[in-house]
Order: sequence, then C-alpha cells, then structure tokens
Amino acid sequence: MVIKVNRYIYWILFTLLATPVTLYVTGTFSLFNAVMTFLIILALTTSFHLIIELIFHVVNPEFFEYNEDIFYDVKWKWDWNLDKQVLNLRPYCPHCEKELYSTFDTLLNQTEFVCTVCDKQITNVNSSNRNFVPDSVKKSIVRKLKKEDNSF
Ligand SMILES: [Zn+2]
Repeated sequence: MVIKVNRYIYWILFTLLATPVTLYVTGTFSLFNAVMTFLIILALTTSFHLIIELIFHVVNPEFFEYNEDIFYDVKWKWDWNLDKQVLNLRPYCPHCEKELYSTFDTLLNQTEFVCTVCDKQITNVNSSNRNFVPDSVKKSIVRKLKKEDNSF
C-alpha cells in the first residue's frame, strides 16, 4: 500500500519554525542574520527532503502507484510486492465504490459481478472458473505496465 504524504508542507513549516528558534539560540536578531539563517535551513531541509525522496523511490518503485484501473467495466484495486506481483485484487463498483460480490454459474458458464448498493449487475463474463477473471485482470495490469513503464 502506497501512502502519499505531502512532505512539502512539513518541510516549509519546519524551516519557518526552525529559523526563529535558531535566531533565539544564537542571539542574533538582525535582518541579515534572519534571512541567512532562513536560507541555510531551507537549503539543509531541501537536501534532506531530496535524500528522503530518493530513499522512498528506491523502496517504493513507480509501479506501486498504479493500483487501480477499470477492466471488464469493474473498478479493480490491488497492492504490489517488490517481485512485481499483484496482490489482494478486489473488485469495486465504478459508480458507488462499494466492493462487489461475484457469483460463479457453472450451468450458464458465467461469472457475474453484482453491486448490492446500486442493485445491479456490473458485468458478466463468459467463464464460470473462479480464477478466470482475476487471472485475466492481473495479466492485463502487467501488460499495461510493460507497455507504459520501461523500467517494469
Ligand atoms: Zn454500486
């Protein structure tokens, strides 16, 4: 699960807070010192921020951010592991975001995805194999990523 935090705000807030503290501790209150201190702290936090970004990028590769898409008219959400495997694939209603339930009709050879909130069938796939749709969706996800992301 990728957690997106806007670190930019904390970074600026930290600089704004650290500047008066530094001025107070060093006992230098001239405008020149205030501006210099602000710029130095900003430069330091910027470097720190870039290092953190780099670490986050290495730990969470870009494909981690591709974690939902529409296939078979169903909105799918999933997680990744570092071995580029799709985990925890779940079907959601594209209209109300409620998780869908699926039924497998072996007699009609169909898999049906139903939303209980919208009270309707979202999609109907011609296979009663329980793994057919998830496997097919996983293949589509990987195919799409290979096409768009050269590093994948
Ligand atoms: Zn719905």
